[in-house]
Amino acid sequence: MIQNKEFLSKTLNIVEIFYSIQGEGTRAGLPCVFIRLAGCNLDCKWCDTLYAKKISDGQNISFEEIIKTIKSYKCNFIEFTGGEPLLQQNSIDLINYLTNQNFTIAIETNGSISVSNLNNKIIKIIDVKCPDSNMSKHNLFDNFNYITENDEIKFVISSKNDFEWSHNIIQQYKLLNKTKNILFSAVDTLFSHKELAELILSTNSLYRQQIQIHKVIWDRNARGV
Ligand code: SF4
Repeated sequence: MIQNKEFLSKTLNIVEIFYSIQGEGTRAGLPCVFIRLAGCNLDCKWCDTLYAKKISDGQNISFEEIIKTIKSYKCNFIEFTGGEPLLQQNSIDLINYLTNQNFTIAIETNGSISVSNLNNKIIKIIDVKCPDSNMSKHNLFDNFNYITENDEIKFVISSKNDFEWSHNIIQQYKLLNKTKNILFSAVDTLFSHKELAELILSTNSLYRQQIQIHKVIWDRNARGV
């Protein structure tokens, strides 16, 4: 598909584009190109991407440059992350273009912005903010109406109370009927993987525990990996 000049000159404010191993979710372990957009509307207590929270943390890059960079990695799997990638209006235009180019596109969003405009070919990874993040009032539960079986719902847990709250939300909204990909991660500086495992097992539910494998492979504070 040949795009016109106007499309190619659109920009996104980007912190980094890098090729790495997908560290989370049902596709963990696969090579992936990450596009990290700048700016976030939330302020999670345990945020691990503080360097991407302000729009001034990134720089404007044209679609033409972004597409060129993506193609240079010769990798079909692309993830948009942030910050919050849906804050920038142009994200959807680029995502739709790449989807039509037969890339597999995932977007990780913080769950506070509507995903209703994303087509079903895009893998939505929707965070649900738990009470201890101090951001749970920003959850947009209407987003659950747009979940397909291809999507993932992610809870980041930093206490037993967070887990119990999440378990209730999953039951209340019957999330396991929408997708089997219900993910739990521990904020491991605050809550152990073992404690999370024990809680998951106690529910006898088909939840999936995950450990951010990029933090095991590389330094846990390394960027661009
Ligand atoms: S939504 Fe993500 S980027 Fe924004 S504050 Fe929370 S953890 Fe950080």
